[in-house]
Amino acid sequence: MKKETWTELAIGALNLQAGNSVSNLTGTWRSGRKPEFIEDNCIQCFFCWLYCPHFAVRVEEGKVTGFNYDYCTGCGLCAEECPTKEKAIVMVKEETKIIEEGKK
Ligand code: SF4
Ligand code: SF4
Repeated sequence: MKKETWTELAIGALNLQAGNSVSNLTGTWRSGRKPEFIEDNCIQCFFCWLYCPHFAVRVEEGKVTGFNYDYCTGCGLCAEECPTKEKAIVMVKEETKIIEEGKK
């Protein structure tokens, strides 16, 4: 996806590409932490799926199975709302690699 510079954005930052949420990888906003799923503690209440603002909670065959990090921003809402005593979601530190232009 081509990123627009500020001079190319529509006035008022209007989104003129309706339906672009699939190509907009919101996971690129994540910095510093990400959710980790602990399956043994999960009671399949789906609160995490309900509260996630980016539909980044993976559901397979009717069960929560983890996260889609392409879209997860690391906001931590899922971990906050997970109701189990022993949390089924914990936020962990994530290593981020900053590659300076021209260096590899
Ligand atoms: S950290 Fe935020 S964006 Fe990521 S899965 Fe949890 S609620 Fe969704
Ligand atoms: S909120 Fe916690 S217990 Fe409920 S489905 Fe999600 S991970 Fe499982």
